[in-house]
Amino acid sequence: MKPTRREFLVRLGRVLGAGALTGVALRVWSGGKQGAEFIQPPHRYGWQINPEACTYCGLCETVCVRGPSAVKAVNDQKKCSNCVACYGHLCDLRTPSLLIATTDKLVCPHNAVHRTRFLGGIDGAYTYTIDPDQCTGCAQCARQCNLHGSRSMFLVIRPDLCLGCNECAIARVCPSKAVERVPLYPVNDFRGIYMPEPTS
Ligand code: SF4
Ligand code: SF4
Ligand code: SF4
Repeated sequence: MKPTRREFLVRLGRVLGAGALTGVALRVWSGGKQGAEFIQPPHRYGWQINPEACTYCGLCETVCVRGPSAVKAVNDQKKCSNCVACYGHLCDLRTPSLLIATTDKLVCPHNAVHRTRFLGGIDGAYTYTIDPDQCTGCAQCARQCNLHGSRSMFLVIRPDLCLGCNECAIARVCPSKAVERVPLYPVNDFRGIYMPEPTS
């Protein structure tokens, strides 16, 4: 017998509801371990790390609900000194220039800090970039750069990887209170030009 319109809508609702529940269940079951390019639905606020407060304790790598963590290291090319031997890259800065390219004594346990010469010979200038697919957010490179170098390396919470948890697991435990809630997208609710309160 052909279903009535009401029966059809009820069945459709059940199918859509079951689909949505399956999606949520899969997400919970996978522990938030979606592929690196997962883009979360847009939300207005996100979480970000204040580089002035972060002490690079390493908790970001393991505490984020995502695996690998939504936290990645980056290198600000405007601040980087483009050194031949980089604190965030090499364990021993006394390594002879000729051996740097082949040494396995590197700060990053995943070899995510890439060194590329762009000027001069072996003692010329180098760029240091961090491959986000290899980086796990362990903070070791950024810690060394901040302790000894030009402080160009730091950690960010990638907005396209972060799930935007209502309460960020890292913010809860960060010993330096360095994780802050920030607006993610341009705010459209323009409220006029700021006018200070008139003083009487
Ligand atoms: S937990 Fe806090 S101090 Fe530690 S690396 Fe993350 S942001 Fe920095
Ligand atoms: S040392 Fe840690 S934070 Fe730095 S690039 Fe490697 S995995 Fe990422
Ligand atoms: S809000 Fe959630 S997904 Fe984003 S960094 Fe914090 S714990 Fe990780």
